[in-house]
Amino acid sequence: MKFTFTKEQNQFRQEVRDFLQAELQAGTFSVHCGGLIEGSSQEFSRKMAKRGWIGLTWPKEHGGQGRTYVEKAILMEELMKVQAPIGYHFLADRQVGPAIIHFGSQWQKEYFLPRIVRADDGMRFCLLFSEPNAGSDLVAVSTTAAKDGDHYVIKGQKVWTSGGHLADYGWLLARTNMDSSIPRHLSCSEFIIDMKFPGITVRPIINMAGKQSFNEVFLDDVRVPKDFLVGQENGGFKQIMAQVDYERAGFERLMQNYPLFEQLKSYLRKIGKSGFGDEFYSWIKDSIAQLEIEFNVGRLLCYYTAWTIDQGKQPTNEAALCKAYCTQYEQRLNDVATRVLGPPSQVRGETKWTAFGGDLAESYLWAPSYNLQGGTVEILKNIVALRKLGLPRS
Ligand SMILES: Cc1cc2nc3c(=O)[nH]c(=O)nc-3n(C[C@H](O)[C@H](O)[C@H](O)COP(=O)(O)OP(=O)(O)OC[C@H]3O[C@@H](n4cnc5c(N)ncnc54)[C@H](O)[C@@H]3O)c2cc1C
Repeated sequence: MKFTFTKEQNQFRQEVRDFLQAELQAGTFSVHCGGLIEGSSQEFSRKMAKRGWIGLTWPKEHGGQGRTYVEKAILMEELMKVQAPIGYHFLADRQVGPAIIHFGSQWQKEYFLPRIVRADDGMRFCLLFSEPNAGSDLVAVSTTAAKDGDHYVIKGQKVWTSGGHLADYGWLLARTNMDSSIPRHLSCSEFIIDMKFPGITVRPIINMAGKQSFNEVFLDDVRVPKDFLVGQENGGFKQIMAQVDYERAGFERLMQNYPLFEQLKSYLRKIGKSGFGDEFYSWIKDSIAQLEIEFNVGRLLCYYTAWTIDQGKQPTNEAALCKAYCTQYEQRLNDVATRVLGPPSQVRGETKWTAFGGDLAESYLWAPSYNLQGGTVEILKNIVALRKLGLPRS
């Protein structure tokens, strides 16, 4: 096994770094911790589009570049290092496009794929999966889509919809077979819905950081043309299970608060041992070195997952293992930084006490969500225990 990048991969990384440095110098964005959804600029996405960096791994016949998932991982690692504002195209690029390529109809491919890779107007997506009584157990969704002539009539409620208030389209899971004798995983379908369809109400949920990042979405008899069904009717759950592996796999699960690690290390290099007692400093040294080890393990897991996909394999186990590990690292990073900085770690806004430009307080408030979104650690561990290790279910 070889743990090095090829010359071409190193060149690609350098190209991405040069682009990002130029953008930072031009003041397009600044390096701050925050949610992926807030960090959003269609103009920035368009610049990436011009370089072919949206749809990087999609096949060329679908407007992509046909490059490898390892290259996609290199791109994401560099973007996340500086928290580049990729929120406009992020979900469409990572999840929606690949799902349309696999399961979509001809018109869905022709309409959505070229527009997504260009970061055109009106191509921002949200994911409408979770419901008040269906999160980890997604097969319990109770939103219904009943056929009515050339339409489906959708009724129900979604929750925790990231970016629902900004999205042009939603990617929705709903029940299409109401016969309770049919197994639940054979009764759901996927739809694309235009968020401007009559009957859709988006209501904000303000998170602990005081931000509107996710929402409740109410669907009251929303009439959706049948052409907006994606893939097989009643085959949606199987389709979604294939998609979530890609949702779980990337560097966005390791580096949501990455600037904090860099800031913490340079702060300690600057202040040295002098600010702390002997015992506490020894704990700090140990903890920072441990974080460095964990970051490097997480990084290898991300690349291993990407490499697995490049081998043509479904990365269910690798993605579960990777995300379970990486999001816990992010929380430990936050925990260590908070202990080192003490009370200033809680201060937000521009005050003389604010630590790391507010990044620490921001990460502190986001941290509990890191290992919930996209599948909780407990669920991911269940996947590893049952599927990878072959342990009995009960
Ligand atoms: C920041 C953020 C953004 C999100 N964005 C979106 C989005 O855009 N679209 C969307 O559809 N959803 C989104 N979600 C929802 C997310 O996918 C769910 O929160 C997650 O799947 C967990 O579901 P739940 O909240 O219903 O918790 P539950 O499923 O009710 O779980 C509650 C607790 O029980 C544990 N648990 C549940 N089942 C088991 C089990 N079988 N074994 C062991 N433990 C178990 C869980 O680990 C968890 O700790 C987002 C969530 C967050 C935090």
